[in-house]
Order: sequence, then C-alpha cells, then structure tokens
Amino acid sequence: MSAVRTVLGDVPAEQLGMCDAHDHLFFGSPRLPGQELRDVSAARAELAAFRALGGAAVVQWTPYGLGRRAADLPPLSRDTGVHVVAATGLHQAVHYDEETLGGLRGRLAEVFVAELTDGIGASGVRAGLVKVAGGFHALDAHARWTMTAAAEAHHATGAPIAVHLELGTAALDVLDLLCGELGVPPHRVVLGHLNRSPDPVVHRQAARAGCYLAFDGPSRAHHATDWRMPDAVRALAEAGFGDRLLLGGDTTTAAARSVNGGPGMPYLLRRVAPRLAVELGEDLVGRVLTENPRRAFAANWR
Ligand SMILES: [Zn+2]
Repeated sequence: MSAVRTVLGDVPAEQLGMCDAHDHLFFGSPRLPGQELRDVSAARAELAAFRALGGAAVVQWTPYGLGRRAADLPPLSRDTGVHVVAATGLHQAVHYDEETLGGLRGRLAEVFVAELTDGIGASGVRAGLVKVAGGFHALDAHARWTMTAAAEAHHATGAPIAVHLELGTAALDVLDLLCGELGVPPHRVVLGHLNRSPDPVVHRQAARAGCYLAFDGPSRAHHATDWRMPDAVRALAEAGFGDRLLLGGDTTTAAARSVNGGPGMPYLLRRVAPRLAVELGEDLVGRVLTENPRRAFAANWR
C-alpha cells in the first residue's frame, strides 16, 4: 500500500489533504544562533493557524542533529489535526561539529534506515523522508557521502529523498549523482529551493528528468527571487510539468513564524495559493497542494 509515513503512523496517500511540502516546526543550527525554532507552544499555534486556513499536512525537512524534537511532534499533530511528516538525513557539514559527523562515519545509511523504520532516537517516531543538501553549484565530499547514504536508505526502505539546493543551484549535479550514479528513481527525489535560482531552462531539465520541484518560501534568503516564483511555476506548468510542482513555506527562524509576526505556514494558503491561482488557475493550484505531495511523499514502505 502506498502510504505517507507521518509521526502518528502510516497514512494512506489519498488521505493526506492540502500539504505544505517543505517546512519546519523545529530547527536549530549554529549558523542561525538565537533564531532556533524550539518553542512547542509556538509550533502548536503555527500548525493551528495553518489548519484554520484548510491546511492538512506539513512535511518537516529538519534532518538529524538539528533540533527536530521528534517526541514533541505526535502530540502537536494530534492536538491540531494536521498530519506531520518528520525527516532523517543530514544537512551540509557547516551545520554540525566534527564530533557529530565523526560519530556517523561508516554508519550513516544505517542511521537513516533506523530512523525511517524503528524511529528517531528513543521517541518511537519514524521519519518519512531523507533530507540531504547540495552545495553552491557543486557537490563536495560531504554531499556525496550523505547522498550515497540517502540512496542506500531509499533502496532499503522506499523512502523519498528531499534535497536542499544551495541557493537553488546544482540541481542537475544532484540528479546526476542520485539518479544517474546511485540508481534512485527520479520520481523519488524532491528538489527544494528552486526559486532561489530561477533559471527556466534548468527548471525544465530537472522536471523532464522526472523529479519533483519544490518552490518554498517566502523567506529572507529568497527575497531577491520571490517575485519570480509565479512566472517560474507558470512556465513549468505550461511546459506540461504541473504534476511535478510542490509548494512549501520553509519557516526556518522564530521571527518567520506567523505567530511572531512573520509570514509563517499560513502564508502559503493565505497569499501564495491565491497569487499562483492567477497564473495557473485554481484547479491546478489545488492539485499542486494536494495530489502532487501525496505522490511525492507516499512510498511502498519496506
Ligand atoms: Zn527547509
């Protein structure tokens, strides 16, 4: 059976509902000191605000070691009635200390598989995707290591792989590695942050390869390109790739939460969806928010 692996268990794909395909309830990195997402009541309020606008599911792309708070996710999902998917995986090396990375050498795929099948730490909460990251226009040794382990975990479990593209770049390098060298079927790969590098030719090439393309934001990191997103998405839809598109909020700092005065998760439904409906029509936007995520994130779990 094709199911999305949520923090409350496997959910039949068709029950997922309107989905924020890339976001964070909890996240913390030494790169963003003082901006950690770790307040449980703020996370609950953010989910409730998303739910109030019709939101039904959130996919959290926070990987290993960056403050996922896995044990807090099931009660939040239960309290708010929003499906939540947690991630395993590893971010770029700059987000970790040497000791953490050293402890994962030689057993990274094993850790990913354990988090997908047994649970994250002692929480019993299973991850539903593997999140990894590329670099700026290139893949370094760390990216190759983590993507190799992600591919291995995919082959063992069926899990989808979601990729942070640094400033939206290196999309084709990621596909060459994951799908070309490592044999991951393209439709099991989600590329994130594509709007940070709005090159329509590369977007089309990636879509043609068969992966999913996530447009996530707004955020300060996307500010220079946020205004190009509707055009980029329309160009892909007109080229016949409407069924490859995903949308997310990517809230990564406390200040970006709607409950703290930022756009947060509700913005996706409050402003992004109506704006895109001008370009794509309401029907396609509805499918992008409901049908595409369930295809992208459901798996025949092994
Ligand atoms: Zn993210």
